[in-house]
Amino acid sequence: MKKILLFATVAIMASCQNQPARVPAIDLTNLDPTAAPEVDFYQYATGGWQEKNPLKPEFSRYGSFDMLRENNEIRINELFSEMLDSKAAKGSVEQKIADLYRLGLDSTRLNAEGAAPIRPALDEIFAIADRRGLTEVIGKLHGSVANPFFGVGVQSDLMNSDMNALYISQSGLGMGTRDYYLDEENAAIREAYKEYLKKVFRLSGVAEEELAEAAEGVMRVETELARSQWSNVALRNVAARYNPMSREEFEKTYDAVDWATYYKAMGVGDFDRIIVATPSAVAGANEVLKNAPMADLRYYLASQYINSAASFLSDDFHDASFDFFGKTMTGTPEPRARWKRAMSVPNGTLSEAVGEIYVARYFPESDKERMTQLVRNLQTALGEHIDALEWMSDETKARAREKLAAFTVKIGYPDTWKDYSSLDIDPEKSYWENIVNANIWYTAENLGKLGKPVDKDEWHMSPQTVNAYYNPTTNEICFPAAILQPPFYNSTADDAVNYGAIGVVIGHEMTHGFDDQGRQFDKNGNMNNWWTEADSEAFKLKTDVLVKQFDAVEVLPARDGQPALHADGRLSLGENIADQGGLRVAYTALHNAIDTEAVAPIDGFTPDQRFYLAYATLWAQSIRDEEIARLTKNDVHSLGVNRVNITLRNLQSFYDAFGITEGPMFLPAEERVVVW
Ligand SMILES: [Zn+2]
Repeated sequence: MKKILLFATVAIMASCQNQPARVPAIDLTNLDPTAAPEVDFYQYATGGWQEKNPLKPEFSRYGSFDMLRENNEIRINELFSEMLDSKAAKGSVEQKIADLYRLGLDSTRLNAEGAAPIRPALDEIFAIADRRGLTEVIGKLHGSVANPFFGVGVQSDLMNSDMNALYISQSGLGMGTRDYYLDEENAAIREAYKEYLKKVFRLSGVAEEELAEAAEGVMRVETELARSQWSNVALRNVAARYNPMSREEFEKTYDAVDWATYYKAMGVGDFDRIIVATPSAVAGANEVLKNAPMADLRYYLASQYINSAASFLSDDFHDASFDFFGKTMTGTPEPRARWKRAMSVPNGTLSEAVGEIYVARYFPESDKERMTQLVRNLQTALGEHIDALEWMSDETKARAREKLAAFTVKIGYPDTWKDYSSLDIDPEKSYWENIVNANIWYTAENLGKLGKPVDKDEWHMSPQTVNAYYNPTTNEICFPAAILQPPFYNSTADDAVNYGAIGVVIGHEMTHGFDDQGRQFDKNGNMNNWWTEADSEAFKLKTDVLVKQFDAVEVLPARDGQPALHADGRLSLGENIADQGGLRVAYTALHNAIDTEAVAPIDGFTPDQRFYLAYATLWAQSIRDEEIARLTKNDVHSLGVNRVNITLRNLQSFYDAFGITEGPMFLPAEERVVVW
């Protein structure tokens, strides 16, 4: 689904089992016994895993997280395959899931249709004659499958979190982030992007002699947009993104758009106030709309539409899209299998209907009870940590305690399921037309929230998602059913392993409520400063050390005349705080739960050692260099190796567990930093 996420919830991991046999708590073959923990703990704990799991051609990164996601895809596919075989009643969710899946699998039909499914929209775009026509098409695209120039959507008001508000934010770059357009080192990617554009324009029926100019036109528009867009680091400043404006002032300021036409075309209802997330970028888009040649604007809108559609059309469109967005940008040699691609569409489109079926088949109610207890234990431990902080005043501690006590905890699946009865899936229509209709349905659902109170029971991830999140505006932590499987949660594993895995994940999400972004929100989910100035200052000094630690890490060496690439400590700060907090709090909770001294070693490892080995196992992964470069610029999460090696270097209990007193892993006490 096209989503305009203005203030995203914070997940444990960027985007993607029945347990038939007993899964070992710690699989000793995951270790590399030739490596030394004090030299490279990540290699020691996960080297065997990497050796056993070389990168498959369809992956840019493959880790234990992705392995669980793959297993989960097999489960979901089982459910879908049963639906394909049964004749479900028209209008039932089973019919919708099965028809949507079938449409995606039907390569014969997709290839026969070629560009036909996108022709009507492209004809409309290429027929735009004036600025008013331009506005109307932008509104229609925003109401369906693409966000050219900017994005508009409804989300809770950051300073009045019980109510929904209308937001506008930067959007509309085909390559995603500004760096790809502006940085010298990305010149080759820009050339490849132009080749991609020519390819898909040709497939869409643009005349041969127009192709080069069409691609240049798109690049001119996007490069201009990129100049005023905010960087990923700048976007992490939530306070800077809260700029409410009256409707009148808004329409006067951004005057290139005929707003009445736009609201009507997109389906925006009545409002008197809008929050501008990135004012300078929206102003930049306004200038482009005013000044760019009409031909460039038409090509740009067409490319935005084609980008959204390409993966759901014939093989030649899909391959062109994969060649650029997969191969060039992430280094992945081969696309995912068709069934996986096809399956992800009904899984995303009818996500909670799938979730309801998934949970009934795969999620034991007893897991929910055990998780509830674990979360409580982690909450207690974090409370103890807050009390013990030396750098925080009693006044701020009391507020932090209140916020911790106010957490809403969501486990497994929602209490009420989303109703998809008005979402129509019609097998007579093309695959793409059905996807467009589903997107229109979702946009209408989102815009329908405008002016209404926030539904705090809503889930922002489906139960079958292998992930977890913290949402600052509802002060909630959420653990979908699918993450409650090994290696995260293993009902037959010892406590040390479960606390080192799912325990750290729970602690990680809780710590997000107190990371550099989350701490700006109070117990009610409102952006509201509850810190004394001195405590804010102390927090900043501590977290600056963490920023520097990660900034110093080289993720790719210098080569081909390019300088070495370093991790971005600012971009990943929230996640790095959460990883450290999660580890520390889960460690305390483990020690509250059992007397680790009284537990005999298992497989030769003490409980404390097993705790840290279990944590490292979560981040076992292999990754391509192109993907390292892309994630370092775009992902707020650190690379697996750094989530382990850089984070652990601050923890005395880690050194004690493995008897480390020197070596490359060892950081002298005065260079370490502990936040929560
Ligand atoms: Zn996180």
